[in-house]
Amino acid sequence: MVEVDLHLHTTASDGRLTPSELVSMAGNRGLKVIAITDHDSTEGLAEAFLAAEQFPDLNIIPGIELSSDIPGKEIHLLGYFLDYKNEKFQQTLTEFREGRVDRAKRMVQNLEAMGLPVSWERVLELADGAVGRPHIAQAMLEKGYISTPQEAFAKYIGRNGPAYAERPKLTPVDGVKMIRGVGGIAVMAHPIEMGELSDLREILPTLRDAGLSGIEVHYGTYTQDQIQILSSIADDNGLLQCGGTDYHALGTPGEKEVGMVGPTIEIARDLYKLAGLNIDSLK
Ligand code: AMP
Ligand code: ZN
Ligand code: FE
Ligand code: FE
Repeated sequence: MVEVDLHLHTTASDGRLTPSELVSMAGNRGLKVIAITDHDSTEGLAEAFLAAEQFPDLNIIPGIELSSDIPGKEIHLLGYFLDYKNEKFQQTLTEFREGRVDRAKRMVQNLEAMGLPVSWERVLELADGAVGRPHIAQAMLEKGYISTPQEAFAKYIGRNGPAYAERPKLTPVDGVKMIRGVGGIAVMAHPIEMGELSDLREILPTLRDAGLSGIEVHYGTYTQDQIQILSSIADDNGLLQCGGTDYHALGTPGEKEVGMVGPTIEIARDLYKLAGLNIDSLK
């Protein structure tokens, strides 16, 4: 177990635990710092902060995960310590979530056209907050079309899948700027997932110039070799070695649970410092 997990989802997006359940799990496991990073939503934060009052040693970093796009690739950005109550910021998140609804609807239509009907009402019921492809995967699972959520992505709703639909997305630079614009710290999520390491090396200087502060080095299923490579890429670019589990509580075999993977407590301290917060404010 680690003390820090900076990438976690709740029912505010596509996680299966409520913010309180997630915070309790982290608190009971003895974590010291966690970040709640739902897709395009900060709706889980109030409940998370309230739940954390029961765990005197647990600190919650308010966070977000934004999806951005460059041709052929998707880059996810994590934002920490943002002034998330900012009205314009919330307005933009609302628009992103509306884009998610529209796009999920189109994927459901695509599935229907392929002879795999799922109920749109059921998808909406499964999504308490920001709707995402995992909710569609779950509805497909319930219909018996697939036997794991991964299978839905591999066969149908993955980026190159026959039922995939796009939605308007930020460029990575604009994503970093959006996070910085509300005083947040921007970190690139799961860099291996974006594709070739050469592409990662190519894009990082630009993102760093736009205000990126770190990349995830510790993540879910990353091997020691991958961690080592990402550590050196982070160092080469003067970026913090962040990370977390990206826990969604899907219950699938091999899923890394909160606290199983994460960066050092020193990284958390660096983030607090970058956010202009006194380290003593760490409980
Ligand atoms: P969306 O935000 O709708 O684009 O859906 C992306 C989310 O789906 C990610 O944040 C993951 O939670 C999940 N996801 C992405 N790829 C896979 C996959 N291959 N298998 C299972 N879940 C996935
Ligand atoms: Zn997700
Ligand atoms: Fe992600
Ligand atoms: Fe995530």
